[in-house]
Amino acid sequence: MPFAPEQRAYSDTRKRTSSAYVKFSPAFRVVLRILDENARLAWKHWIPEANAGKGMMATCPNTATERICPIDSSLAGLDKEDPKYIDRKAKKRYIVNVLDRTPYTVCDSCGTETPGKACIACQADLKKHTFTPLNRIKILESGPQLFTTTLNAVEQMQAEEFDGAGITDYDITFSATGVGRDRKIAAIPAAPSEISADDLVDPETGEPQKAFRLDDLLEPSTVEEIEAMLKGATIADLNVIRGIV
Ligand SMILES: [Zn+2]
Ligand SMILES: [Zn+2]
Repeated sequence: MPFAPEQRAYSDTRKRTSSAYVKFSPAFRVVLRILDENARLAWKHWIPEANAGKGMMATCPNTATERICPIDSSLAGLDKEDPKYIDRKAKKRYIVNVLDRTPYTVCDSCGTETPGKACIACQADLKKHTFTPLNRIKILESGPQLFTTTLNAVEQMQAEEFDGAGITDYDITFSATGVGRDRKIAAIPAAPSEISADDLVDPETGEPQKAFRLDDLLEPSTVEEIEAMLKGATIADLNVIRGIV
């Protein structure tokens, strides 16, 4: 039975924060249950100026008939080998809902909810702590390396080993090495297992968590949003531009 959690409202999906996205770090392993059988594809530009210089992705608003994207206009005429073109052109990004099942604990030195052997906020040693799965629905977004190479291989291997098991039937442990462009992510699947209804409950509300609406995440950025991002806009600034406060 494919697992199909209820979907969030449009404004809730569009008003997302960075904590809604899975982040990989060499400091700890990440355990995910993929919730969507098929990833969705978007073409995105990396805008290094956005988010006050920390960088952010924008979904390219160009279509076959409408060429309105300010980034593509700024790249017009550049050679395909030009580093500026390679850095700024739109690239394939895949998106799925996942249940983040990474073991977390609460640091007794600073109170931060954290995974890993050391607190992500204060680096305190967590060895004696008890960890429980976070069980929070997040968005996993990455490029073809993770989705079409790594995860396709996992899916194929598991289907052979576990008689047709699908990508949503088991947890996968991801470990990251390297930084920036040298970042490599390995994925090791567990045996198939069921997710219980309890795993999906939001501890704050006691209600089942809802999945993000992938269609809303694929919505192209507007020219106004991209121009604001080129000037350093943050997610909070963009939520204001989108009229979501
Ligand atoms: Zn574009
Ligand atoms: Zn701490």
